[in-house]
Amino acid sequence: MQVIRQVHHMARLAQAFKRAGKTLGLVPTMGALHDGHMSLIRAAHRQTQVTVVSLFVNPLQFGPKEDYARYPRDLRRDLNLAKAGGCDLIFAPDASQMYPGGFCTFVEVEGLSDRLEGASRAGHFRGVTTVVMKLLHVVQPSVAYFGQKDYQQALLIRRMVKDLNVPVAIRLMPTVREPDGLAMSSRNAYLTSEERRHATVLYRALCAAKARIRAGERNPRRVVEAMRELLRRARAVRVEYLAVADAATLEPLKTLRREVVVLVAARVGSTRLIDNLLVGVS
Ligand code: AMP
Repeated sequence: MQVIRQVHHMARLAQAFKRAGKTLGLVPTMGALHDGHMSLIRAAHRQTQVTVVSLFVNPLQFGPKEDYARYPRDLRRDLNLAKAGGCDLIFAPDASQMYPGGFCTFVEVEGLSDRLEGASRAGHFRGVTTVVMKLLHVVQPSVAYFGQKDYQQALLIRRMVKDLNVPVAIRLMPTVREPDGLAMSSRNAYLTSEERRHATVLYRALCAAKARIRAGERNPRRVVEAMRELLRRARAVRVEYLAVADAATLEPLKTLRREVVVLVAARVGSTRLIDNLLVGVS
């Protein structure tokens, strides 16, 4: 497994593989790899001939008061895990490689970027779409892999590649969870053991919402209220948003139909966590 630090080096290698007729799979990550990332890496390894994993804590997607400086970083551990998952090339640029002096071009998906996560984290999605577009240009993969855990992000990226005619297939992989249901996240490492216990209520609230919808509830307000009630009882958990939306567009619905996504963002202590579940409405 090769570790590449420079953009021009990564681009040259990727072009050489493409000229040799190989398909490339890209897994963009911010490192601190866990089993969620590993499921993406393994899928890329199974489905494409050259697996590229990017490790880059992207300063552009963090707000000024967010955790950019203390975001967990452990390159050696990440390299070992990525290699075990079948990664062929690691792309680990530093910020000055990705954003050299004078950088001033950004990619923005309008509308969809403003809701939910976008409303809570101003500028976040502009940072995400800009870095993903750069990675897609540098690596030129046939397939790029994303997790359902960041559902709105995945929809935005699908929209971006469609709107800008980027020749890549976007594949969405299911959320990998801890045995008690908590969605795996690099930020789970911030939780104290007490907060970690409380954090399971997020998944339980999503499951309760799913059960209600399955039992016939079609009013999204009542679904959200039931979740809010459950979450109110958990000390140390502060809800940022709860929503039930159309799974394809994230538009709010008056009556639940087709496929919906139930979403939650909450602070557990000072750690911000998000999660979601897809629910088919018969
Ligand atoms: P991150 O390093 O948090 O930026 O995540 C990199 C990729 O891994 C994104 O596409 C995430 O959606 C995906 N991911 C993160 N956590 C999980 C999880 N628990 N299950 C599946 N995919 C995940």
